Amino acid sequence: MCKGTLFVVSAPSGAGKTSLVKALRKGMDGFTVSVSHTTRAPRPGEKDGRDYRFVDRAEFERMIAAGEFLEHARVFDNHYGTARATVEAALEQGGDVLLEIDWQGARQVRTLLPDSVSVFILPPSLAALEQRLTGRGQDDPGTIARRMGDAISEMSHYGEYDYLVVNDDFAVALRELRAIVIAHRMRRARQAERHRDLIAGLLKAS
Ligand code: GDP
Ligand code: ADP
Ligand code: 5GP
Repeated sequence: MCKGTLFVVSAPSGAGKTSLVKALRKGMDGFTVSVSHTTRAPRPGEKDGRDYRFVDRAEFERMIAAGEFLEHARVFDNHYGTARATVEAALEQGGDVLLEIDWQGARQVRTLLPDSVSVFILPPSLAALEQRLTGRGQDDPGTIARRMGDAISEMSHYGEYDYLVVNDDFAVALRELRAIVIAHRMRRARQAERHRDLIAGLLKAS
């Protein structure tokens, strides 16, 4: 069984990472988007188990102590983490896995899994970022101000990523993100594994 690729996507809050990943998943088979655990309260419309697994601080601490997280970090006064089990099982089975995590988590994943592929998504401007956070209509003005402040520190880590995508025109950014995933699926080691029988047949002396 060929092992899958782990993709890590980071962006400042509001840059469009969740929308892009959702659209990417719609048009493509063969990958799992990891559902993170978080101690933050659900936003209106968010569903436990779909958007996040919402847990209290005690449960989060228990999971850290039990070594159940692949990575975890504190972001905006809340705790976020990726459970190890589902990610590892999907990769073992040859599926690709995509994590939407912050730069601190991306750094931990890169150390643990050096073959992972990381993508940073930038907004076209700070004004657009603020507009998107406001337009999403899910955070109060205080939270938005806080997230704008944190956006610059998140973006300062862009240099640690393999790929950069600017989410100005959504359709263009989606195409670029899709191209990154497809290119990695076409890498020789992976293709050679997937098409082992074909290649053996092609190279057989007549
Ligand atoms: P949004 O980015 O505005 O949609 O806000 P979220 O509450 O969905 O995410 C908050 C932050 O937590 C973002 O920086 C995410 O990238 C990060 N995040 C989400 N899930 C994970 C995770 O499993 N691990 C880590 N390290 N960060 C995560
Ligand atoms: P993130 O997950 O990075 O916080 P979201 O995917 O929630 O960001 O997007 C934030 C808001 O910006 C949403 O309301 C979304 O519809 C909007 N948005 C995303 N991409 C674009 C784009 N290219 N142009 C205009 N609005 C966008
Ligand atoms: P939000 O609260 O807006 O959903 O997410 C805020 C930030 O937390 C985002 O930048 C998001 O990428 C990050 N985040 C979400 N889940 C995780 C996670 O599991 N681990 C880490 N490290 N960050 C996360």
